[in-house]
Amino acid sequence: MAPRPKAAVIGAGMSGLVSAVLLAMHGWEVHVFEQHHKPGGLLHRFFRGGVPYETGFHYCGSIQREHILGRCLAHLGVLDRIDWVAMDPDGFDRVILPHMEFRVPVGVEAYRERLKSTFPAEAAGIDGYMADLLEAIRHYGLYRFEDSIDTEQFIRWEGVSLDEVIARHVRDPSLRAILAAQSSLYGVHTHEAPFGLHAVIMHHFLSGAYRARGGGDALTGALVDRLRELGGELHLRAEVTQILVDDKRRVQGVELASGQRVDASLVFSSLHPRMLFDLIPDDGLVRKAYRSRIMGQRLGLAHFGVYAQLDREPHEIGQANIYRMSTNDPSCILRDIRPGHVPFYFAAAPPPSPDRDGRPAHTLLLSAALSWGQIAPWADTSPGRRPAEYKQLKTELEATVLEAFMQDFPSLRGHVVRSEASTALSTQRYTRSPCGAMYGHYHSIDQMGRYRLPQIIRIHNFVQVGQGVFTPGILGTTLSAYYGCGYHLGLARLVQELEAT
Ligand SMILES: Cc1cc2nc3c(=O)[nH]c(=O)nc-3n(C[C@H](O)[C@H](O)[C@H](O)COP(=O)(O)OP(=O)(O)OC[C@H]3O[C@@H](n4cnc5c(N)ncnc54)[C@H](O)[C@@H]3O)c2cc1C
Repeated sequence: MAPRPKAAVIGAGMSGLVSAVLLAMHGWEVHVFEQHHKPGGLLHRFFRGGVPYETGFHYCGSIQREHILGRCLAHLGVLDRIDWVAMDPDGFDRVILPHMEFRVPVGVEAYRERLKSTFPAEAAGIDGYMADLLEAIRHYGLYRFEDSIDTEQFIRWEGVSLDEVIARHVRDPSLRAILAAQSSLYGVHTHEAPFGLHAVIMHHFLSGAYRARGGGDALTGALVDRLRELGGELHLRAEVTQILVDDKRRVQGVELASGQRVDASLVFSSLHPRMLFDLIPDDGLVRKAYRSRIMGQRLGLAHFGVYAQLDREPHEIGQANIYRMSTNDPSCILRDIRPGHVPFYFAAAPPPSPDRDGRPAHTLLLSAALSWGQIAPWADTSPGRRPAEYKQLKTELEATVLEAFMQDFPSLRGHVVRSEASTALSTQRYTRSPCGAMYGHYHSIDQMGRYRLPQIIRIHNFVQVGQGVFTPGILGTTLSAYYGCGYHLGLARLVQELEAT
């Protein structure tokens, strides 16, 4: 039997692992190289005192087989290996504004009706907005199980901002804030957020919101198990330091920090494209225009995370996420927190996971914007030795975020057993994301649509996947892998396989 062709995948986050499984399913001998000591990238959980804390996976949508994400996970052979926990169908997202709360129900029609019953004077505008949302998602190719897209329509919906579409249809400031709240899921100011991207993400969650028991590790673990079953290998603590390219601009493999060279006739990278330039030494291999475009791109949002253990279930939150806006102005979502002031926070309480004694551990994640600029002065300090001012700032911000949460949920006051915080320095350290960007690049209208980054560049058999070149989230990174593999396996073939799954 002829040996299988060999592929190297850089990074064991969602996009790298999905790419690896897809390639292995199609006859490639796949080696995944991950610099960290565990796989998952932004999805990984960390443990303190045996208690698991989620970092970058709180929920996803559309996991039923009739929807794209569910179909992809089934096609990859992992859907049924995960214990999915449905979130509250009557309100999986709770948008809390200064004077009201809105619960987002599952179902496009249920969402529309709830919006209309809450804002009856805006009924016609809500219908107009929902019509635009449904029209926009029709042009997102693979999201609709299509192997091609109507480029003109796609560019049209990625070129109009969320603000513009909302303003076109509705006036009520609270309604406008409610429609905009989930823009925090991709971290772009609403006046720059591509409406099409927002529409797809909303539609994906409205199709059914789920958590995974065991969180990000469960999803990662299922993909790693599947990869191994297919004969693939995951190499941990294996930082790629160079992509090997011959003089005909064909990839030859990768070199690791250990000095080991690994031959591969296909290389996938899930890194932010800015990091590529450290891995591809010869300037001439990448067009100067591409390099300056990447280096000039705005990076995505950086965040401040608070991870708390509670001594009881936070039933006040229920099986829902909290989007807490301090004003009706959606610009508060990306405004930096400062001591004593939290313009916006996101809160999620995953299903309890057993601690190391097997007892259910109740945890809570709080996330708010804190830009790289606020912590950049300490970027060159090493983790165990950050200066006192940095630690002081972190402590103050952690207390501020927890206090903002306790004011909204006072019955949970006194139930925090322990907590700790992270900044973009942690994100950068664990995932190597430049400037700790949580969603890769800034997915704004001037960097998406007609300005989207290409997944393939002029190095042959080299493909980029992940949120750094595509869109963020479980959905976006999965689709980035399907599109990326589509260049080699044929997108039409993958779509046929999805349809047959
Ligand atoms: C706080 C937060 C909450 C989120 N919540 C959700 C949510 O609820 N639902 C949802 O759908 N999405 C959520 N997301 C988004 C989601 O986590 C990301 O979009 C997704 O995990 C990104 O996957 P990726 O493969 O593109 O990148 P990454 O996860 O960053 O993977 C890249 C991998 O490459 C590795 N690497 C880097 N450099 C090298 C190198 N030189 N050699 C080898 N390996 C290397 C990194 O260690 C990393 O493992 C959240 C993100 C954050 C930050």
